[in-house]
Amino acid sequence: MDFQLSEDIKFLKQSIREFIDSEVDPLAMEIEEKDEIPEKIMNMSKEMGLFGLSIPEEYGGTGIGMVGKCAIYEELGRTHNGYTTVIGAHTGIGSVGIVEMGNEEQKRKYLPPMAKGEMIGAFALTEPSAGSHATNLKTTAVRKGDKYLLNGSKHYITNALIADVFTVMAVTDPSKGAKGISSFIVEKDFSGLTIGKKEKKMGLHGSHSAEIFFEDCEVPAENILGQEGQGYVNALKILANGRAGLAARNLGSCDKLLEMSMEHAHTRIQFGKPIFEQQIIQHYLADMALDIEALRSMTYRVAWMVDQKMKVIKEAAMVKLLGSEVYNRVADKAVQIHGGIGYIAEFPIERFYRDARITKIYEGTSEIQKNIIAAQLKLEYL
Ligand SMILES: Cc1cc2nc3c(=O)[nH]c(=O)nc-3n(C[C@H](O)[C@H](O)[C@H](O)COP(=O)(O)OP(=O)(O)OC[C@H]3O[C@@H](n4cnc5c(N)ncnc54)[C@H](O)[C@@H]3O)c2cc1C
Repeated sequence: MDFQLSEDIKFLKQSIREFIDSEVDPLAMEIEEKDEIPEKIMNMSKEMGLFGLSIPEEYGGTGIGMVGKCAIYEELGRTHNGYTTVIGAHTGIGSVGIVEMGNEEQKRKYLPPMAKGEMIGAFALTEPSAGSHATNLKTTAVRKGDKYLLNGSKHYITNALIADVFTVMAVTDPSKGAKGISSFIVEKDFSGLTIGKKEKKMGLHGSHSAEIFFEDCEVPAENILGQEGQGYVNALKILANGRAGLAARNLGSCDKLLEMSMEHAHTRIQFGKPIFEQQIIQHYLADMALDIEALRSMTYRVAWMVDQKMKVIKEAAMVKLLGSEVYNRVADKAVQIHGGIGYIAEFPIERFYRDARITKIYEGTSEIQKNIIAAQLKLEYL
């Protein structure tokens, strides 16, 4: 396994670190309060190529592979998670379907504008009846001549309000269960598609989630991703990629929390000495560092496996689970080390603590990751 980063990626990482420190972090409070990512930050991110992280160079993207993408995600995870999620959803679940399963015509049409951020991507699987039970979809797609007519709805869809193109899973043959699901590229302007209102959320402000409604939504037949019946397998592959990427973003957030906690432990004086001198605080910090190193090793191993085109269903579930559990543990310890200031909204710690919580739910809950791991173990051992 080789996790060495090229000089180009190291340079990009450094540029992003500077961009975050000078441009994004100073606006984090504004993002939090207005629940919007400032236009200036979006435009600068596009100029830096951040919207093309998953897209091969021949279609205008960075072409840096999964190890490279995770290295960049790690940097992005250090700042406001709402901003990171807008980019993460676009460059992960919102575009990977077209990159991996799209035909040449679909790639030429959608990927160049997506790489520039002129078209934003989203991924629409979840429905009121199909959360963890993701094959229990009620949205249907019926072929009528050279079109499919989609009917149904999706909810909690990240980027729905800013997306131009959705990867949508719908049932084409209800008699076949998971094998009767197909996936489609759906443009926001296709007739019969409407977007619902923005949900109010505990965290991830600036990243919006909303419902999508399909009412005889007309999708050209050529917009099917792969073959009819391949949609659920496509969704699993897209989610496996997304889960590894999410782990890398969580890793960056954990790094930032450890850095802030170290600084606070050395500067906060109680009982006449820095709280770092208390062994229990040292142990909190040691536990955080241990968790983070374990997550780093697993994240890059899975990213490397993705680049080698290896099967990563079990490993992606493991790293998603580890990443969200570690992030929540690290955020909890960071609040504890900071004491009262860790609970005050003027400082970033409480925001990371709230933002950590969703990582145990979206892109498949922690319980579902354990189910996936156990199912894979059964295949391997029994
Ligand atoms: C902010 C946000 C953004 C999201 N973005 C997207 C997106 O972009 N695209 C998209 O398609 N979806 C998105 N989702 C949906 C998300 O993936 C689902 O919410 C998640 O998969 C859980 O589904 P559910 O909410 O229906 O919970 P449920 O499935 O109802 O689960 C409730 C609880 O029961 C547990 N449970 C259910 N079944 C089992 C089981 N078999 N074994 C053990 N435990 C079980 C769950 O683990 C959970 O603890 C988003 C959600 C949120 C909140």
